[in-house]
Amino acid sequence: MSAMLEVKDLVVSYGKIKAVKGITFSVQEGEVVTLIGTNGAGKTTTLRTISGLLRPTSGSIRFQGKRIDDMAAHSIVSLGLAHSPEGRRIFPRLTVEQNLMLGAFSRRDGDVKKDLKAAYDLFPILGERSNQPAGTFSGGEQQMLAMGRAMMSRPKLLMLDEPSMGLSPIMMKRIMTTVTTLKQQGTTILLVEQNAQAALNRANQGYVLEVGKIVLSGTGKELLASDDVRKAYLGED
Ligand code: ATP
Repeated sequence: MSAMLEVKDLVVSYGKIKAVKGITFSVQEGEVVTLIGTNGAGKTTTLRTISGLLRPTSGSIRFQGKRIDDMAAHSIVSLGLAHSPEGRRIFPRLTVEQNLMLGAFSRRDGDVKKDLKAAYDLFPILGERSNQPAGTFSGGEQQMLAMGRAMMSRPKLLMLDEPSMGLSPIMMKRIMTTVTTLKQQGTTILLVEQNAQAALNRANQGYVLEVGKIVLSGTGKELLASDDVRKAYLGED
């Protein structure tokens, strides 16, 4: 069976600077795959390129066998690929519910109410505060909103860019538990994280990125047990 997402020899540049230097990885249906690595490794650049927000210099990206690296971002969303971006990017003046509805823009069917309910079941606070301006939410609540919004497009593949960034340990745990819940519900997830431990604990497969290159890969368990990973990313000496 071919993978749900196949990234091959991907190179992405900002002008003369190569941020991603020829990476190859794949995501199988039903898996959680994580990309870990320090600041500037190229993780965000990779997700933005898969979403169609950046164009690769070379290489290919296939989603369910179809090449998407020359497609417009909105067409990629319509295929079933959703992106919860770094920094959440919610619309602060719009209400929580209006933000969620924006996630459903690509949908042609009319069953959005059911998805709102699913988002409210996932994160009850979104339902309790549905009329509150999103800008008044805490960082953790905004992260829940960004994830809820991404789920509104009923994605086949959900890409999460550093969902735990800037959150308290309790809120981080809450968000990571939701990653597990979404996986159990059958969502395929590509997770970018600096919190390597939390990400690898949930990952079927992980890739370690360093200055634009994949330097190590393996199952979540294998990477958690690797001396290199423990020293560089899990704060052990
Ligand atoms: P972080 O966790 O800090 O977000 P990252 O792994 O997501 O790191 P990227 O944000 O993808 O890394 O950045 C990869 C490299 O590309 C870095 O060297 C960064 O400085 C550079 N870069 C990112 N965005 C731009 C841009 N718009 N213009 C020029 N260089 C950029």
